Amino acid sequence: MRSAGQLVVDRQLHAAEIARFHSHVVCGPTPSDCNIWTGAIGADGYGRFYLTRDGVGFCVRPHRYALAIAGGSVAAGVLSLHECDNPVCVKVAADTDPQQHVVSGSQGDNMERMARMRRGGGRHAVRRCDSRGVRRERSVALREAVRHGWDTAAVQAAQLGDQPTLW
Ligand SMILES: [Zn+2]
Repeated sequence: MRSAGQLVVDRQLHAAEIARFHSHVVCGPTPSDCNIWTGAIGADGYGRFYLTRDGVGFCVRPHRYALAIAGGSVAAGVLSLHECDNPVCVKVAADTDPQQHVVSGSQGDNMERMARMRRGGGRHAVRRCDSRGVRRERSVALREAVRHGWDTAAVQAAQLGDQPTLW
């Protein structure tokens, strides 16, 4: 994975690549809903977007790619974080939008964010127990929930992942 390096996405130069990216995304109907990646999902529950540039194949995390589309590039060392706590979300909201999804941040931002979620209780308090396997299952369930278009009930069921026996 080269996802931690600099990632440049040029709207003209990479137009076909961007179109392929969007073909793997199903958008939620409201600003608070996530846009869900429906392409490959790795063992860690995060998406995989495979690219070939200058004859070299590599893969990136789709939410990092989404940030690079929005800003033109993501610098090396800059993290792409999920304010919505959904690893397969690729929505980059406007700064003025009350609900943020994928945002860029530093390692320090990430530590602060994780601490805030631990204190926050609610669904985040449950999610800190997630193992990679459970996270991947939830990501795959979300992908299935939107495979034929956005299905609000199926998405909510997948996000809740109401299966304590798995833990
Ligand atoms: Zn989201």
